[in-house]
This record gives sequence, structure tokens and C-alpha cells, in this order.
Amino acid sequence: MSHGNAIRDAIEIKKNGDELSAGLIREVVEGYTSGAVPDYQMSALLMAIFIRGMRYEETLALTEAMVDSGARYSFPECVDKHSTGGVGDKISLTSLPVAAALGAPVAKLSGRGLGTTGGTIDKLESIPGFSCAMTRERFERQVETVGLAILEAGDLAPADKAIYALRDATHTVDSLPLIGSSIVSKKVATGAGHLLYDVKSGSGAFMNTPDEARNLANLLVRLSRSLGVDSSALITDMDEPLGSAVGNALEVRESVRLLRGEAAPADLSEMARVVAARLLELKGVPDPEAAAGRAISSGAAYEKLEEFVAAQGGDAKALANLRVSHDVREVTAPRAGYVARFGALGIGRAALLLGAGREKKGDEIDYGAGVEVLAKTGDEVEEGQPVARLYGTRHAGRVPALVLEALEVTPAPVERPPVILERVS
Ligand code: URA
Repeated sequence: MSHGNAIRDAIEIKKNGDELSAGLIREVVEGYTSGAVPDYQMSALLMAIFIRGMRYEETLALTEAMVDSGARYSFPECVDKHSTGGVGDKISLTSLPVAAALGAPVAKLSGRGLGTTGGTIDKLESIPGFSCAMTRERFERQVETVGLAILEAGDLAPADKAIYALRDATHTVDSLPLIGSSIVSKKVATGAGHLLYDVKSGSGAFMNTPDEARNLANLLVRLSRSLGVDSSALITDMDEPLGSAVGNALEVRESVRLLRGEAAPADLSEMARVVAARLLELKGVPDPEAAAGRAISSGAAYEKLEEFVAAQGGDAKALANLRVSHDVREVTAPRAGYVARFGALGIGRAALLLGAGREKKGDEIDYGAGVEVLAKTGDEVEEGQPVARLYGTRHAGRVPALVLEALEVTPAPVERPPVILERVS
């Protein structure tokens, strides 16, 4: 069948809410990736999928077709983790050196910031000289010698890259089968044998409720297993930023402090250790939580971070004293009471406007910009007490009001929410 016929048939079938065959899905994905299927027809199909949904078998076929659209690596011994995106989420920076230091090799594909959610590649690029661009050979060698390598997508799952850009432009991103196939295709193409998904739930995440997050977590685990990858998932809170720092160099600085055994926010510390332990568990390491703690207190995890940074061209000596913006202002609590909410979405937006993210494609990031939240849900605050520090000069007039809007202080004590909401396996 020609690609032209395939896409017309697929639109007609999905428009009526019927099921697409695996063969038809493959034709369409191949056609769109090669340029034979135009954007306007693919957009119509994506909207039909968005409205009508997809059965599991269709989603699996779409995922497989996207995996097969480019190169496929193989690292059966390696672990990998994937976060669905959040604000202040530095769990890759903190948990992966721990896992690698304990002999669980990591082969990981990462992305850049998207809207108010940060991206690991942008964070790492705040380290002078650091790069995630590398050949397959160099990636394989680094996994072998350092036990930790992070790559930018490049030739893996090119169909996802093309389809994702179209989804972004056609407002069809937030569809469960499209999100599931997009994430899993990249992970399966990278080839790690053991995967942990960190599915965020809350105002600062794609999935706003635990029910939505659970549906996505179940889909990610099921698709991965169908494609031969051992996987499990955590559902974690993203109603407030994770840890204190939001913004690229600020987040690396906070991660360095945690890995050097210095003071770190309790939610970040707990989550980094749990994720590292789950990755070690996937590799069958005994007593993984205690092992993760020892890797931090002995300095082994920080040494692994330095080795990894140096291997990817970064200045490991700069890590301990990373440059952040010198333009710093504080926002203070408008009244005394208890923090009921310091919303991730508002803080993410504030950090983005200060320069930590891109307002539109191609915008230049200010790596030293962002926000540090100094009060977390459940904390008691006095009137006039600093609750956030703002770094950077862009939109400086607008940002304090945004940060205050994200803050809710109540007279009654508030319980601190759990950071890990559920485990899915
Ligand atoms: N992240 C992805 O990689 N794909 C999606 O569709 C959504 C989030």
C-alpha cells in the first residue's frame, strides 16, 4: 500500500473510532518519518487518536514502529530511569551517580526543558564544557569505562521527534497512548535492560491527579515489558518543586551538595535514595537502601559524578563552585502561618521567566537563573520571613508577584505531604 493510501485509510478508521492494524500504523509512521506523509494529514490522524483513543495493541504497534524508525542500541546489563517531567526534578543528577558507583551501569537518553518542566541536558550544560552529543561508539565506551553516560536523542526514535513536534503544534500532546508510545519508544531504542519510570502527579506535572499518573505508569510498564524490558514505576508528588532549587546551575549545585553529604532538602534526599535503591534492586543488589546511603557518605557517588562530568567534556573542578546569577532578590511571606502550598507550576513559570527555561523554541537559557524555595508545605513561617530567592534579571518586575501567587499560607498547621505516592510493579 502506498503511504498516501495508508494515511487516508488510517484517518478514516480512527475518525470512526475503529482499530488500526499494526501494519497500517507502521506504514503511516514510516511515511511520516520519510516525509512522504504531509503534516496536515498526520495532524488529522493525531487529532482523531487524541479524541478516539487507542487500544493497547494499537499503542504497542505505534511504539514498536517508532522504535524501528531509527537506530536501536543494546545495553542489557544497564539500568535507566525516566521522569515524566517536573519542577526542580534533579533525581537523575543525584540517583544515577549513586547507582553507577555501586556497579549498576547506566545508559541514558535525556531531554531538554519543556515548558515549565526542566530537562537534564540543560542542567548538565550549565557545567562549563559539558556535552551530551556523542557518537554511538563513544557512548558505548563510556558506559563500559565510567558506568554512566547520558546522550541526547540524535538518531534514536526519529519518528518520535517528528511526531512530538507536530503534537506540540496541534495541541495533541496530552493523550495517554501518544505520551506512552513517545516515552517508551525512546527508552526501548536506547536499549537499557532495566527501567524505572518516575511518573509525576500534581500541578507541576503532565498528569495532575494520582489516577491519571497511575494510568500512565501502568501503560509505561506494560509497553516496556511487552518490548522485553524489565521495568517498574513510582508515582511521585509534583504539587510543589522537588528540593529547593529550580533552574539549571542552581539544581546542579543542590545535587552536588547532596552527593557530597552536605545538608540537602529532606524530600530530595529521600527521593534520590529511593530511586537509586529501586535501580539497584532491578539489578539484584542486596539491601539497596543502605548501599545507596553508604555510596553517598563514603564520597563514592560524588567521585562518580566527577568522573562522568569529565568524561563528557565538563570541568569537574567547577562542580563544587558552579556559577549562579549574582542578581539575587528575596520574596518574603506576606503573613505568619503554615505553608499549605508553594505550587510547582507557579515556581516553574517564575524560573522560566527569569531565564532558566525557554519561552519559545530556540530561546537562549541563562544557566545561572532560577528560584530557590526556602519554605516547603507544612513549614511554619513568620510575616516578612524570606520564602524564596530569585536569581537572574529577566522579567524581574513580574516574577515576585508570580511567586507570591504560588504561595498559600494558612493559620492552621498543615501536614507535610509524602513525596512517594505509590509504587507500581
Ligand atoms: N515526554 C515525552 O517524551 N513524550 C511525551 O509525549 C510527553 C512527555
